[in-house]
Amino acid sequence: MEGAVLLCLSSRRRGQESRGTTLPSVLVPGLIVQKYGGSSVATTDLIRNVARRLARVHASGTRVVGVVSAMGDATDDLLAVAKRVIADPPDRELALLLSTGEVVTAALMTMALRAEGRDATALTGFQAGIRTNLVHTKAQIVDIDPSRIHRELDAGAIPIIAGYQGWTDDQDIAVLGRGGSDTTAVAVAVAIGADRCEILKDVDGIFSADPRLVPTARKLDLISYEEILELALAGSQVLHPRAAELGETYGMPIVVRSSFHDAEGTTIVRGDAMPLEGRERVRAIAHDYDVARITIVAVPDRPGIAHAIFAPIEAAAISVDVIVQNVSHRNVTDISFTVSRTDLARTLRIVEPVARGMGASEVTSSATMAKVSIVGSGMVANPGYAARMFGALAEAGCNIVSITTSEIRITCLVDESQVPVAVRALHEAFRLDLA
Ligand code: ASP
Ligand code: MG
Repeated sequence: MEGAVLLCLSSRRRGQESRGTTLPSVLVPGLIVQKYGGSSVATTDLIRNVARRLARVHASGTRVVGVVSAMGDATDDLLAVAKRVIADPPDRELALLLSTGEVVTAALMTMALRAEGRDATALTGFQAGIRTNLVHTKAQIVDIDPSRIHRELDAGAIPIIAGYQGWTDDQDIAVLGRGGSDTTAVAVAVAIGADRCEILKDVDGIFSADPRLVPTARKLDLISYEEILELALAGSQVLHPRAAELGETYGMPIVVRSSFHDAEGTTIVRGDAMPLEGRERVRAIAHDYDVARITIVAVPDRPGIAHAIFAPIEAAAISVDVIVQNVSHRNVTDISFTVSRTDLARTLRIVEPVARGMGASEVTSSATMAKVSIVGSGMVANPGYAARMFGALAEAGCNIVSITTSEIRITCLVDESQVPVAVRALHEAFRLDLA
């Protein structure tokens, strides 16, 4: 047995070598986008490290476009500075301010590339031709005119694009929402027809759970777009959900890997390109501490109530997640839902007058909730997963506040203090430590 395995491994290795020497063009793609996240560019030393990596790719003959995030916590710092000036900063100027974080990195990265002897050009989102809609601080990309990027590439330069931003029809600068540089990268990759988009991070790829909570968590080699999208929506900060969505829509191959070494990372593929076995189990556990819960107590149970509550929240571009409406008693019911903790105060300001207007008895809220989720395409066909999840949480002593499901995800709302125990219990119950 062992002999057979070895033989198979060594012949595969041999195969790779010969491909490498005889057909280099197969191994060296023509055009790639590499996106470097905030912690990979947090200091000038790290920026120089990334510049050396980009220079190496460029020297190998691959045309490469860099997309960069703001250095370290720069975006949080800018946000904090704005709030010291005014409690509720105006969106238009806040977007302009936040966009500067990425511009700083792009300029410094370009200088570092010059120091490496490479030609490079820093571009803001505006200069890169990235058009967005009019929502200043949570804008969506509507179109990219890639002519400037192509011009730089044709001249042999490495374009370094400031992520997370674009410009609107009103000629304002807009930002894409937190974590939006991933979306910039995938959108640019699609617009220029890149062979793939690489997302380089301070982690080695996508794991079966957060390795800081679960020491036995495993790096996944492959994951599907829909799984990564569900993981992102469930709070795992591996990839911005809109980046996954764009990748799937346009069939852009995405690779998530480390910016510190050359190990292979996780490749995101279409579900039907995954090995059968990989599709038939829970792939990963996600958790999210950024959860606040609002409950509207004793609202009348009549048509139009849910719309009256959620329409103004949506109009304010606040995303609502786990929504639960209780069975009504004497035509009165409770409605609760979750929002991100940063949106709690704003959401309450919207909901309280609406609730009062419809005769609800009170609005309560909690900012100490969290979500734990299991994700895997295999769940569509198999009803057993929910029972196993609830069983594992019960055994671990975790109280489930409410539950939501999608086709390939089950999410339980729990108190934030129970997250570590819950995630470990689920990782074990679904045997995710095993390959
Ligand atoms: N700098 C922005 C943020 O921290 C965007 C990004 O990093 O992708 O949210
Ligand atoms: Mg960041």
